[in-house]
Amino acid sequence: MSFLKNKFWTRLQNFFTFRPEKAGEARYVILRRNLAVTMILVTFVPLFLMAFINYVEYRATLHKEILSPMQSLVGKAKHSLELFIAERVATVSFVSKAYSFEELADPQRLSQIFSVMKTEFQGFVDLGIINEKGIQINYVGPYQLLGKDYSEQPWFHEVRVKGSYVSDVFLGYRKFPHMVVAVESSVPGGKSWIVRATIDTDRLNDVILSMSLDPESDAFLINREGILQTPSKFYGNVLDRLSFPIPSPTYQPSVVSLRDDQGRELFMSYAFLREPNLILVMVKPKVRVLKAWTTLKSEMLVLFVGGTLIVLFVVIKITGIFVNRIKEADEKREAAFRELQHHHKLSSLGRLAAGVAHEINNPMAIINEKAGLILDLLPQMPQSPYRDRLETLTRDILKSVDRCRNITHRLLGFARRMDVQIEVLDLNEVVREVLTFLEKEALYRNIDVRLQLAENLPRIASDRGQLQQVFLNILNNAFEAVPDGGIVSITSWEVDADKVAVSIQDNGHGMDEETMKHIFEPFFTTKKSYGTGLGLPITYGIVKKLGGDIQVQSHVGEGTTFTVYLPKKAPHAE
Ligand code: ADP
Ligand code: MG
Repeated sequence: MSFLKNKFWTRLQNFFTFRPEKAGEARYVILRRNLAVTMILVTFVPLFLMAFINYVEYRATLHKEILSPMQSLVGKAKHSLELFIAERVATVSFVSKAYSFEELADPQRLSQIFSVMKTEFQGFVDLGIINEKGIQINYVGPYQLLGKDYSEQPWFHEVRVKGSYVSDVFLGYRKFPHMVVAVESSVPGGKSWIVRATIDTDRLNDVILSMSLDPESDAFLINREGILQTPSKFYGNVLDRLSFPIPSPTYQPSVVSLRDDQGRELFMSYAFLREPNLILVMVKPKVRVLKAWTTLKSEMLVLFVGGTLIVLFVVIKITGIFVNRIKEADEKREAAFRELQHHHKLSSLGRLAAGVAHEINNPMAIINEKAGLILDLLPQMPQSPYRDRLETLTRDILKSVDRCRNITHRLLGFARRMDVQIEVLDLNEVVREVLTFLEKEALYRNIDVRLQLAENLPRIASDRGQLQQVFLNILNNAFEAVPDGGIVSITSWEVDADKVAVSIQDNGHGMDEETMKHIFEPFFTTKKSYGTGLGLPITYGIVKKLGGDIQVQSHVGEGTTFTVYLPKKAPHAE
């Protein structure tokens, strides 16, 4: 278990790590994508779940609130209808059993019985007695049915077999929708007769009307062939054929959804009656039922889509900002790291150079001393033919020693071994001093040196000698970069309360990106025959030591600008 958990976490961490192996931009694209995907997942999964649960819940409620009432209404009405019919059958059955054939055959007695039936149980239209041969032998009611022969009618045979019979609604001889209840009775071993009563189907409709449906709903009875037994609001009158298929038989009220021939989407609740053999149907248009649902659904959809869009927008914005921040921080860190690395390189190289310089300084001092001694000894040998020659050679030695000393001196400077001597100085003055060294070359090569020195540049506390070297190095490079007749501009200004700056701009050959990367490295030079590659690293070392900074801008063929920023107070100054 914990192993799985660990695995999961490593996965998750991997998902968010930078993938340093991916170069540059790519890792930020990946990070951004991962972040966005995770955030979207984290927000959307609950959102989707919520929407889904809402949907399911609402469907369930809908069922409870709308479909269940329909079902129970149909159940109740079914019961009422069954009870109504059962009562009529029981009444007719009672009449057939309670009276003898002779009593029933007596017209007066029958009309008496019928009047009691009519007042006690509503819905009876007429009452008749039919003998074994199917002939109506007695009749009370509004029609002239005495003597009618029913022997050929199917219900007559059914009642003979089953003992009782309830018909569907039919028109019969009287061309009026009615329903027949018939019960057979007999004396043991003797003749049998049938008591037959007609029920007004309006009574059935009354039961349905008592369901008190809302105006959009419809309820009616149909028989198993789909013939309407009571009038319908939507599908015609009694004995019309229903236009959609009969539902599958069930005595439990149930609900199905269907589309009728008029294209209406419906919920249909129905139940089969046990007796008579009819089906109670109730329909409710879906539009009506689902109106609340559809509006809610569209509101939910709008909310969902709106929410989704907002979430997407925010996620994309936030990840963008976030990743950009990370990228910036990374870039800063990388730059700082590069600078540090450079520093390290310089200082280790510097230490090496300083060691070498130091070691060489001693023998040089000895050579210098010995050569001086030789010069001192020369006057002692006036007659020697080699005297003059010896003197020139010795002086050459001294000159070379001097050059060596110069170089070791520079190397020591590069290694920051040279002491810093802080004084308050005018930077413009330092620049002018350095320029005096270069005056001759400028004149000779016709180089235009333009001075734009700030007039009231604040004096700064720094090291004059080292600053001279800085500007000399940069100006030397500028002079070497420009052709004869080129331009070198020197500008000084006050940057802010703590800093001043000097920029040296030339219109020489410039540098490409690759060169720019290496110019501060010791011994890097593009001047094959005469360059040492020490000028800029030394300059860089000095400027840093004095608490300043140096920046370079260059374009190939256009020129280069070196800008030296210096603090008004070098860190060594007390
Ligand atoms: P060196 O001058 O001995 O080559 P530097 O350290 O002074 O050594 O300069 C290093 C390199 O930087 C030069 O070889 C040159 O390629 C480049 N460089 C420096 N200053 C300029 C400049 N003003 N214009 C063009 N290239 C320059
Ligand atoms: Mg140089």
